[in-house]
Amino acid sequence: MTCARTALLAAAMAAAMAAVPMACAPAPSPAPRPNILLITIDTLRADHLGIYGYELPTSPAIDAFARRGTVFDRAQSSSAWTLPSLASLMTSTYTSTHGCWNFRSRLDDGFTTLAELLAVEGYATGGVASHTFLASSYGLAQGFGHYDEELAPTKGAQAHNAITSSRVTDKGLAWIDHRARLARRAGDADAAPWFLWVHYFDPHYIYHEHAGVTERFGSEGDRVRYDGEIAHTDAQVGRLLAGLRERGLDDETVVVLTADHGEEFGDHGSKHHGRTLYREVLRVPLILAGPGIAAGRATEPVSVVDVLPTLLDLLDVPPPPLIKGRSMRRALEGESLAPRALLAELRLFDGYHADALIHGRWKAVVDADSGVARLFDLEADPGETRDLAADEPEQLANMLQGIEVLRESAAQDGRRFDVDEGLVLDDDELDTLRQLGYVDDR
Ligand SMILES: [Zn+2]
Repeated sequence: MTCARTALLAAAMAAAMAAVPMACAPAPSPAPRPNILLITIDTLRADHLGIYGYELPTSPAIDAFARRGTVFDRAQSSSAWTLPSLASLMTSTYTSTHGCWNFRSRLDDGFTTLAELLAVEGYATGGVASHTFLASSYGLAQGFGHYDEELAPTKGAQAHNAITSSRVTDKGLAWIDHRARLARRAGDADAAPWFLWVHYFDPHYIYHEHAGVTERFGSEGDRVRYDGEIAHTDAQVGRLLAGLRERGLDDETVVVLTADHGEEFGDHGSKHHGRTLYREVLRVPLILAGPGIAAGRATEPVSVVDVLPTLLDLLDVPPPPLIKGRSMRRALEGESLAPRALLAELRLFDGYHADALIHGRWKAVVDADSGVARLFDLEADPGETRDLAADEPEQLANMLQGIEVLRESAAQDGRRFDVDEGLVLDDDELDTLRQLGYVDDR
């Protein structure tokens, strides 16, 4: 509406249109939107970080970062391996919806990802991948204007053996500097905020030794080397966060740090991940810090599906349809969250298909094929060692019904999309996945 037209209307309808001339004044510029830095670390179980109570010094940088933000004590993954978990993070849906069940799956282009939603909001979007499953062929690159997958080859021994964290940090900082140069050119006031996703891979098997680091955690064994990998990655995460601070971006950037899943060291009889849904695999770190986010801890169970609606809520953007997460914003402001049930699903290998539900103090894990179910009281038994299925049949029945309801709702949403398990992989690619532990040759 032009000012002349407004003036005419104002003259005719002086009382009713009293506020209209305001439209001719320059609109107050909206509060600048923060940049968003999403850091995911592969295979990082929460309880191997100092901020989650680990007794060894694996994570000084992450701990320092966590102290200025909100730490979620009971964050859960939606699955036990990379592809379904990160698909849940990017779409806020469970696996029964996004359909990334196995290593031939691809996230359908019909999904609206976090990166796509932020791009629509005017964000510049960048990604740094460092794991085969983040290669664009698997569909997680949707919505990224810049997506660096040099460190995420789908074939060759490098995918499995390379140590990549320092390069991930270099690439992340280089993209931030690139955005800053573009912003200066555009005139800083008009610069788009950015969303950067960096994924660190090093804690994933094979556990490499790092001279000067690994020795701090003992002499030998998988756990020692795993802790060394965490400490090595922590230093690179620290370098990324220091880079943000040195560039004066701390007050303008919301930082989210989480993991795709944890790792087993025989806790329930298995090693690595992708085979069970126990705490050592499902419980991940989740920490948010930045403008408007209080320092503190949140104890209610939350899920990787909650990250997307939380970030949108911080930007006052309404959540899209079909999502299964909910905003955690209240927790970021120091308030508590209402209880709610969370689902995790696993169909990777033949032989053990499982679903899990976490609700308040209870957790149920059910073998999806045989129907054999276990029930744990997480308050009395956080390590999930005492099966209460026989002692608490009513509680178990409630939990199993909860799994049914959430799975059916998720599966119904999934029918709107093309679930594609037809990714064609050549022998080299299969060999890479085999070395990473994702092809079951037993
Ligand atoms: Zn992973």
